[in-house]
Amino acid sequence: MSAPVASRPAEPPQPGPVVARTRDELKAARSLLADGDVAVVMTMGALHDGHATLIRTARQRAAHVVVTIFLNPLQFGPREDLSRYPRTFDSDMEICRNAGVDLVFAPTPDVIYQDGDPGVRISAGPLGNVLEGQARPGHFDGMLTVVAKLMHLTRADSAYYGQKDAQQLLLIRRMVRDLDFPVEVVSVPTVREPDGLAMSSRNTYLTESDREVALSLSRALQAGAAAAAEGPSAVRRAARAVLVREPLVLVDYLVLVHPSTLEDVPEWYRGEALLAVAGRVGTTRLIDNLPINVGPGGGALEVFSDVPSAALDQ
Ligand code: AMP
Repeated sequence: MSAPVASRPAEPPQPGPVVARTRDELKAARSLLADGDVAVVMTMGALHDGHATLIRTARQRAAHVVVTIFLNPLQFGPREDLSRYPRTFDSDMEICRNAGVDLVFAPTPDVIYQDGDPGVRISAGPLGNVLEGQARPGHFDGMLTVVAKLMHLTRADSAYYGQKDAQQLLLIRRMVRDLDFPVEVVSVPTVREPDGLAMSSRNTYLTESDREVALSLSRALQAGAAAAAEGPSAVRRAARAVLVREPLVLVDYLVLVHPSTLEDVPEWYRGEALLAVAGRVGTTRLIDNLPINVGPGGGALEVFSDVPSAALDQ
């Protein structure tokens, strides 16, 4: 006689993250996360699998995960896409719930900038004036100012950022080092669609044909990486050759630069370098990059080796 099959009790529903909208709500919810370290993942919302990967990586390494969702007006120029930026709070919460986030801080600008436009800001310095900084004056000062504020407000022990925004990641590392923030910065490799397009909240602006055109950005990077063994000019030439075949990408820059100075690497250079591209497709400005190793046996890297990497630890 077979034993009766005991029916398994239903899984308890995943408790959703606590949502804090004000400084007081954040303070109260944060004080409950006292039994272990806290990681923060800062986002502008419209979450996709790139963000979810940051959250999951943080979840594996820290006792608690805080996600911030804040569209920071300080880092958008007057002609940029702040007003049309996608706002998808309900699905963002679903992603946070599934990824096991403890606390979501989703303030409005008046909560973050309680006295209006801040008179005192973080200056990104010279590294903030090149590449993205040249195309978007003031962007990195605005970005660093809010990152500093969110680090203070969340009192995070570690903060997770995507390699997708390589210059942002570099500047946050510099700020934390130069200004002695007690926060560990962790980088996470770029998450891509199956066809290679780097995931981005801005991809939702792309029409079907734009999306096809946009693929030439990641293809150019791959072509550059494939030429890495032959040296810097071969990398640049191979990447450029892909982009010139796609006139519908209005290329802003395509560079091979040193990962910490962002200066063009000379022809004799061998070692880690950042191959970065930015361009406009239709009405959308897109960026992408690949860390690569230039020289014999070279090619694409996931992230640079001299920085703590969640991925390399796994
Ligand atoms: P955003 O919401 O665009 O400000 O991005 C928030 C964080 O997610 C930043 O650290 C980004 O670098 C990171 N991120 C955005 N897209 C990706 C991606 N495709 N892969 C990995 N990280 C990403």
